[in-house]
Amino acid sequence: MEEIKIEDKQQYLNDNYPFEEAPKLTDKKKCIHCGSIITVGDYKVFKDEVGEEYIYCPNAPKCDGTVIDWFDAD
Ligand SMILES: [Zn+2]
Repeated sequence: MEEIKIEDKQQYLNDNYPFEEAPKLTDKKKCIHCGSIITVGDYKVFKDEVGEEYIYCPNAPKCDGTVIDWFDAD
């Protein structure tokens, strides 16, 4: 997969967040795939073979968790 550079990460998150309310870039979440506490703004975006873009854990490609695998850190 190919990593995409995002200019405005907050805007991209607002537009592509799969749930109700997009978190802030400074929010901390827990990625259940790698178990790390991540800072939302460190997310990465990868594009697959058909051009679909996915918001990945900052630890990608080592971690295959995406935005839906993040839970509140508390
Ligand atoms: Zn992860």
